[in-house]
Amino acid sequence: MKKECPECGEKIKGRADKKFCSDMCRNAFNNKLNSDTTNYVRNVNNILRKNRRILEELIPAETAKTTKAKLIQKGFNFQYYTNTYITKKSVTYYFCYEYGYLPIENDYYFLVKRKEYSEQSSTVKNHGGTENTKKHGDKEEKSR
Ligand SMILES: [Zn+2]
Repeated sequence: MKKECPECGEKIKGRADKKFCSDMCRNAFNNKLNSDTTNYVRNVNNILRKNRRILEELIPAETAKTTKAKLIQKGFNFQYYTNTYITKKSVTYYFCYEYGYLPIENDYYFLVKRKEYSEQSSTVKNHGGTENTKKHGDKEEKSR
C-alpha cells in the first residue's frame, strides 16, 4: 500500500519511510504548521489586546464599575487574561496587562488600573506587599 503525500495528496514514490513526495512539499507542510502556531499566538494576543482596550475605555480614572452585559456587548472575552492577582482577603482580580477586573455581585464588575510601577495603588497593592516609601509627587515639587 502506497502512502500519500500529506501536502499534495500524490502517491509517494521511493523509500518506504519517505513522508512527503518532495522536499518542496515537506517544506510547505512544515511552514503551514509553523504559521498555524503563529496564528494561534497572534489570535490570543489580539483577544488580550482587545480585552485591554475595552477595559481601558471603561476606566476613565483609576477605578470604575461596569456590568457584564456591557463588557460582552463590547466583545470582551472572559476566557483570556494575562494574570490573576489574589488579595490578602482571597479576592481574585483578573488582569489584561495593567487593567484588571473583579466580578462583584449582580453581574457587576469592578475595574482597576494597576499603577504599581509608578505609585502605590489604594485598591491593588504591590505583589509581595512591600510598601513604597517614596511618595508620589516628590520629584515634581523640585522641578518647579
Ligand atoms: Zn507532495
